[in-house]
Order: sequence, then C-alpha cells, then structure tokens
Amino acid sequence: MIALKHIHKRFGAVEVLHDVSLNFPEGSVTALIGPSGSGKSTLLRTINLLETPTSGTVEIGDSKLVFTPTSKPDRTAVLGLRRQTGMVFQSFQLFPHRTAAENVMEGLVTVLGWSKERARIRALELLDKVDLADRADAWPSELSGGQQQRVAIARALAPSPKVLLCDEPTSALDPELAEEVVDVLSALAREGTTMVLATHDLRLAQNTAQQVVFIDAGAVVETGTPAEIFANPQQARTARFIQTLR
Ligand code: ADP
Ligand code: MG
Repeated sequence: MIALKHIHKRFGAVEVLHDVSLNFPEGSVTALIGPSGSGKSTLLRTINLLETPTSGTVEIGDSKLVFTPTSKPDRTAVLGLRRQTGMVFQSFQLFPHRTAAENVMEGLVTVLGWSKERARIRALELLDKVDLADRADAWPSELSGGQQQRVAIARALAPSPKVLLCDEPTSALDPELAEEVVDVLSALAREGTTMVLATHDLRLAQNTAQQVVFIDAGAVVETGTPAEIFANPQQARTARFIQTLR
C-alpha cells in the first residue's frame, strides 16, 4: 500500500497542497485530474519526495516517513523511499548521448551497481515489454516522441519500483503517438503495476485507472471510480472540470 496522510506543502508563504490524504492500493492505478496549477505535479513529486512535504506522512510498503515543520527524516531514509518509485515526465528526459538500452541500464549500473551485462539483459526485457525490442541501440534523436516516452517508461520500471509515477505522460505527444503510450500503460495496468498518473487524457484515465482523484486548488475535491467521476460526479466543481476535458 502507498499512502499520503495529511500532506501540506508550502512554497514560501503559499500553501499549494492542503491536507491531502490518499491511498493508492497495490496493483491498482490512480488518475489525478484537475486544472493546471491545481497541484497534481507537486502531489506526484511529494510521493517520491522530490518535493519535501511541509508536514504529513508518506508511506510506501514498509517505509513510513513523517514530516513536521520542525523535523524531517534523514537523507538516507528519503533516498530509500525514492528508490521504491519510478517517475515518467511529460518531456521524456532521456539522456541524449545514450542509446535506448543505455538509458534503461543507466540507473541499474550507476545506482544499483549492476554489471553492464546484467543491466543490458534487463534493459532488453523491458524494451520488449514497451514494444521497442528492435530499437534498443537507437539514439533518442532517432526515435519518435511516443518511442522516447516508451523508453522512459522502461527506464522507470528497470529497478522494479513499487509504484510508477507518471506526470502527464501523453501531453507532449500527437494523438497517434499518445495512443502507443496509452497502450503500453494499459498493458502495465492489466499486469497489476501500481501507478499514479497525473493526466488530462480521458482515454488514458478511462483505460487504466480504478481510482480517479479530482484535485482543485491543492485539495482533493472528490475521489471515485472512473464511472463515478466521469459519468456521475457528485460535486459541481468536478462536473464543470469534466466538461472541459471532453
Ligand atoms: P499542476 O501540475 O496541477 O499544473 P503544480 O503542482 O505544478 O500544478 O503547481 C501547483 C501550484 O504550486 C501552482 O500554483 C504553482 O505555481 C506552484 N508551484 C509549483 N512548484 C513551485 C515551486 N517550485 N515554487 C513555487 N511555487 C510552485
Ligand atoms: Mg503538472
């Protein structure tokens, strides 16, 4: 189980997350939806502690880190928790001077200390999973955006994280290329990969998520199944936002 409890996040005087508590059950997919600036990226970055919560608790599996305005867990604990997560960004962020396989191998070799041989075997397995077995030795510049994002997904999965965090994974892609990425994430969802996705992509949310969370102005407004949130929202604010996605 992955859980956030009573998370507050301030940047200077401005509080951008207000008392967010959410459970992300193992083996399930959660889609975070909400207007630009509502706090989706900050929330994702709080799960892997790229942002330090001002206060609250972050739990992943057996690791539980408690933050208060006056005390923070030590760096080793933070890195330990972060290593249980994988992150995919809107803009792919591949290393341009590494091939597809080398991008996937990088963290295994430099962070986990795997041999290059072992890391390459794992990289080829993962590239096969994202349908890129034949592009292992291509440079990022030789790949389409959809292919680059699939390499980024393989890279994030390489160390077998407990949760895959995706920040608008299809937003930078043309519809056709976005579809390849939706297909790959849907297949991962069917296999039981635990994922949290921030997205404006209705098809992605509907194809993958068991849980949809609507966030507005840094607070959770409504949580439900895709059918509940998309077809029968309880809050007027949710209904208005859903209209804008269609
Ligand atoms: P979303 O991903 O939903 O568009 P964000 O999490 O990026 O929203 O942003 C939420 C709010 O936090 C916005 O008002 C944004 O300007 C603010 N914010 C995000 N990151 C920072 C930062 N590093 N410093 C100051 N304000 C930030
Ligand atoms: Mg964002």
